[in-house]
Amino acid sequence: MGIIQRMSPHLANMIAAGEVVERPMSVVKELVENAIDAKCSSIKIYLENGGLDLIKVIDDGVGMDSDDICMAFMPHATSKIKTEYDLFRINTLGFRGEAIASIASVSLMQIISSQNGTSGYQCTYKSGVKENEGVIQSNKGTTVSVSNLFFNTPARLKYMKSAKSELASVMFYLDRIAMAHPNLRFTVYSDNKMIFQTSGSKSYKTLIGEVYGVEAAKNTLEHSYVADGYKAKLVLVKPSIYRSNKLEITLICNGRFVKNFNVTNAVIEGYSTYVPIGKYPIAVLYFDIDPLLVDVNVHPSKTEIKISDEELLVERLAIEVRKCLEDANHIIQREIEKPIFDKFQKLSIFDESFDEEIASKPIILEENKPSYNERPLALNKPIDVDEPKPIAKEARKLPYMEYVGSVFGTYLIFQNDDGMYLMDQHAAAERVNYEKIYELLNNPNQPTTSLLVPVMLSFTKQEALYVEENLSKFLEIGFALDQVGTSDYAVREIPLWAKDNSDAIIYDIISMMIQNKKIDIMYFRDSIAKQISCKASIKANHRINNDEIQALLENLNKCSNPYTCPHGRPTIIKLSLNDIEKMFERIQS
Ligand code: ZN
Ligand code: ZN
Repeated sequence: MGIIQRMSPHLANMIAAGEVVERPMSVVKELVENAIDAKCSSIKIYLENGGLDLIKVIDDGVGMDSDDICMAFMPHATSKIKTEYDLFRINTLGFRGEAIASIASVSLMQIISSQNGTSGYQCTYKSGVKENEGVIQSNKGTTVSVSNLFFNTPARLKYMKSAKSELASVMFYLDRIAMAHPNLRFTVYSDNKMIFQTSGSKSYKTLIGEVYGVEAAKNTLEHSYVADGYKAKLVLVKPSIYRSNKLEITLICNGRFVKNFNVTNAVIEGYSTYVPIGKYPIAVLYFDIDPLLVDVNVHPSKTEIKISDEELLVERLAIEVRKCLEDANHIIQREIEKPIFDKFQKLSIFDESFDEEIASKPIILEENKPSYNERPLALNKPIDVDEPKPIAKEARKLPYMEYVGSVFGTYLIFQNDDGMYLMDQHAAAERVNYEKIYELLNNPNQPTTSLLVPVMLSFTKQEALYVEENLSKFLEIGFALDQVGTSDYAVREIPLWAKDNSDAIIYDIISMMIQNKKIDIMYFRDSIAKQISCKASIKANHRINNDEIQALLENLNKCSNPYTCPHGRPTIIKLSLNDIEKMFERIQS
C-alpha cells in the first residue's frame, strides 16, 4: 500500500509557484523533514564539500515500499496533503511534494528504503531520468543520497557560495531542526568528520548544550505558561551569554522552525537592559498553537508566519521572558582563565618578572586609607542615603555579603562564605537610579516644582520644532514649557527628579527626539531613564563612604534586576572561594 499519493495539479500549482531547489540547504531541509515525517528516532547526515558533492540522509523511520519510492520521484507527489483544505491545517513539516522530483532533476539521486529491515528497494535517477531500480538488502528506514548537485545546471552551480558558507547555511538550519526535535538523535558528518550531534535526550538543557556549548547549558532557564489558545515553553539562556545578532532567537511553532518579527522583538524587549546594547540573547521558544490560528505562508521556501491575536501573544511573551529572568540569579561568576591565572602566579616578590603595571596600582583594602584618585564627595550626585528600608528576605536577589573595601575608587569588594564579589559602583548606582527614574516617569502625576523665575532656553529651528510638536509629551513627564519667541521657551515647571540639571535634561530629551524621529512613549521613558541615571550616578574614581555603600547595596537589592546596569553591563561579579583557593594552589583544579 502506497503512503505517497499524487496531489491534485491545482494544489500543486498553488504551492509550487517559484519553487526551486536553491542550494544544498534546501535539499537537506527537504530530506530531513521527510525523515522526520517517517517517524524516525535517529537521522544521520553526511555532507561532502558543503553538500555540493554529496548529501546523504539516513533515517530509521517506517520506510517505503517499491511503489512509494517510484512515486516519490514523480512530480507533485506528496504523502502529506491531499486537498487545499488540508493545506491550511497542515501540522506536519514539509508539504513540498514535488521537491524530490526537482532535486532528482539537478543531481544524481538514489533512494534506498526498507520497511522490514531485511529486504528493501532502491531507485536511482540522474538528471531526472531513471537509471535503474531493483531489490536490495537494507536496514529499516530510508537512505537518500544526492550527489553532484547542479552538475547539469552550471549557471546555478556558479551561483553557489564557497563550500564553507554552504555548509554554514546547512548547519544553521540543522541547529534549528534539532532544537525543534529534542527527542531525535541527529549526527552530522562533514567530509567524514563528525561536526554535530544531539542525543535525543528530550532535555532542553542538554539540547542547548549540544547546540551552544556547556556554558550555555549551565545557564539555561526554562519557563512554561498557558494562555488563551496556545501553550508556550521558553528556554532562555541567561543574559551573560549573548550574540551580536538576532539569529539565535529561535521560534518553534507546532514543531516547526518558523520566523516572526514581532515575537523576536518581544524576546529582545524581555531581555532589555539585561544584555549590553547592540547584543542579543540566545532563546528558544516553543509554541503549541491551534493550527487554525497560525497563518503559514504558503510559499514553501518562506518560514515567516502570522498568528491571530499576535499583539496579545507578543505582549504576554515579553512579560513572561522578563518574569523568567527576574526569578533567576545573574551574578556573573568569573572563572579564572589560564592567562589571568598565570599573571597572578607571577605576582611573587622573588620573581624577576614581577608585573610592574599591576604592582603600581594601589590596592586599598582598608576603609580609611585615601582612595586612588580621590575627589571630594560633594561633586558626586546624591545616592539615596535616606534610611534604607529593610526588605523581606525573599525579595532579596543578591546573597548576604559584607563590605570589605574598595579598589581604584571604583570597585567595591564584598565577601561571604561562598566567595568574593566585586561591584562596579557606577553601574550599581546607575541601575538603582534607572529603576527609580523609570518608575517616576511612569507615574502620570509627577511631583513637580514651579520655578519662581522661569528659565529661558534657546533652541535651534530644528530643536524648536520638536519642542513645539511635543509640548504635551513634555508635560506628561512633568516639564511645562511656554513658547516666548520663535525658538525660545520659558521653563515654568520641572519634575522634582530633574531639579538639579533640568536644562541639560531638556536638551538631552530633544536630541533624543531628533535622533529617533518617531516618539514611542515607552521607548522614550526608557531612554530618558537610562540617560539621566547615568548622569545622576556616582562616577568611577569617586570615593563613597560606608553609609553610602550600605545604602547602595540595599537599594540595588531592591531592584527588579540588580545584576546589570541599564546598558547591560554587569554590576557585580563573583570570584568563588573555590577559584581563589585554586589560584593559591590550596586545592588542585
Ligand atoms: Zn553610565
Ligand atoms: Zn551603564
